[in-house]
Amino acid sequence: MDVLGFVIRLWLAFPRPLGVTVGMVLLATLADVLMPLAAGRLVSDVAEPAVQSARLHHALWMVAALAGCGFGSVLAKRYAYLGITRLTTRVMQKIGTESFAHVQRLSTDWHANTFAGSTVRRLTRGMWAVDMLDDTLLLMLLPEFCLLVLTTLVLGWHWPAMGVMLGVLSALFVALSCMLTLRYVAPSAQAANAGDSKVGAALADAITCNAVVKAFGAETREEERLTHTLDQWRTATARMWIRGTDSANIQAAAVVVMRLSLAAAAVWLWCKGQAGPGDVAYVLTMTFLVQGYLREIGQQVSVVQRSVNEMEELLLLWRTPLTVADPAQPVSLHVAHGDIEFKHVTFQYPGQKTALFTDLSVRIAPGSRVGLVGPSGSGKSTFTKLLLRLYAQNSGHILIDGVDTASVRQSDLRRQIALVPQEPILFHRSLAENIAYGRPDATAEQIAQAARLANAADFIERLPDGYATLVGERGVKLSGGERQRVAIARAFLADARILVLDEATASLDSESEALVQEAMERLMQGRTVLIVAHRLATVVGLDRILVFEHGRIVEDAPHAELVQHEGGLYQRLYALQSL
Ligand code: ADP
Repeated sequence: MDVLGFVIRLWLAFPRPLGVTVGMVLLATLADVLMPLAAGRLVSDVAEPAVQSARLHHALWMVAALAGCGFGSVLAKRYAYLGITRLTTRVMQKIGTESFAHVQRLSTDWHANTFAGSTVRRLTRGMWAVDMLDDTLLLMLLPEFCLLVLTTLVLGWHWPAMGVMLGVLSALFVALSCMLTLRYVAPSAQAANAGDSKVGAALADAITCNAVVKAFGAETREEERLTHTLDQWRTATARMWIRGTDSANIQAAAVVVMRLSLAAAAVWLWCKGQAGPGDVAYVLTMTFLVQGYLREIGQQVSVVQRSVNEMEELLLLWRTPLTVADPAQPVSLHVAHGDIEFKHVTFQYPGQKTALFTDLSVRIAPGSRVGLVGPSGSGKSTFTKLLLRLYAQNSGHILIDGVDTASVRQSDLRRQIALVPQEPILFHRSLAENIAYGRPDATAEQIAQAARLANAADFIERLPDGYATLVGERGVKLSGGERQRVAIARAFLADARILVLDEATASLDSESEALVQEAMERLMQGRTVLIVAHRLATVVGLDRILVFEHGRIVEDAPHAELVQHEGGLYQRLYALQSL
């Protein structure tokens, strides 16, 4: 119901194609309903000798009506298809854009906990589910419903008893097909699909681990395993096919019974003198028509059920709330100095039992370089995430140049803080595009300049395609140090007053390390810098070091002072690392 409401709301966003589709479907159905009527009248006409010119005239009119209905139905169906093509493609596009926009804004947490592949699949499957749903609901079930109502009415108007009979028989038939498809065929299809996935998984597992299989000479063992899985698959698939056939046969038999009953009723009416040959012809043609329409109704209902399930997944995505929402009336932020202040900040991760930060206050002066150190899990990264507003604090304020970050648009805030993450992620686009990501309008000269400052120009210019080199998915074609220097070049171009560096934990070779270090030093010039440091060597030269422990800042001074602090955490950490 939820999904259907959602789909109907989407349809209503495009009233024109929706109107054309529904209107034309109704017209085509009406033409189909009139056809047996005209056929019946024609038979009545030809049952009499053709000597009376009025009869002949009428018969010719009926032939014309048949032609009109036939072509009218074809034409109306064509326009219905054109209408639904527009409707469906637009709805799919709308779903695609809006879901993507929502997914992009979902929290870092959500993205961290969700496989990208599965999100992509949910999105595209949801889009295609709309296609199936549109076709089945508008092009199949809607005309079927209208046809049943109309023929029942036409028949009931002539002979009320026959109308009731057709209504009841059709309802029984629809119920029977739905039950067969949903209760009998669908579960076996699910089992067969599960079997199919198992075979795929078993094959992939054994083939990826082929080296192990070889090393233990276990080929036969693996083959036996696969045979076992294939056995299950075979049983399940055979059951699905047989049930499909059973269901089709039962439905075909039901249709025969339905047709016979209506024909018998017509003959009975003829016996009582209430129906002529034309009426019998009408009833027979009409039952063929109804049967043609209803033949696949069970199948269609199951398609609707499946698409609804797939849409539900998408709807769930759509309904996932943004953990950090933008303010309704954002103020604009222009960071001129890079003055950062945390004021009584309390923050607790959703799902954690206790708060990580309680009443944390700290001020970072413009242009100062601050190292964040402390044991793993002490809250260093979270501190920078709060600054970037990837998470919202539960209480307290974070101010940049005196502006509360909660009052500005997140994209506005993040554009003005350059971030060099621990493991830079690159798009599968050219190096130039990757470097210019923070400033898409940068000229080639500016890009090259940023690369030079980041010590990246040398290796880039050595590549055969230079700045046009595609870097491979997530930048896999570059070494760790090179990726990092590209990220630094990116930060140079972004030219933000505030810089957040997350030091790479993975060790680079010493030459690469020196190049990265040098580029970082250059990048830090004249900015407020926060460095999440894993090696204390990095922070020795900084203006100030904040030492974190269990979400508290336990020490706050430059290196020279901290090493003097007997029994301090920094001194202990320093002693450990010096070893
Ligand atoms: P550090 O950067 O100092 O290693 P973090 O700031 O990453 O520490 O983590 C601080 C604490 O918060 C840790 O106890 C960690 O388990 C917890 N934490 C980090 N990220 C999340 C998250 N997304 N959800 C819940 N808890 C988290």
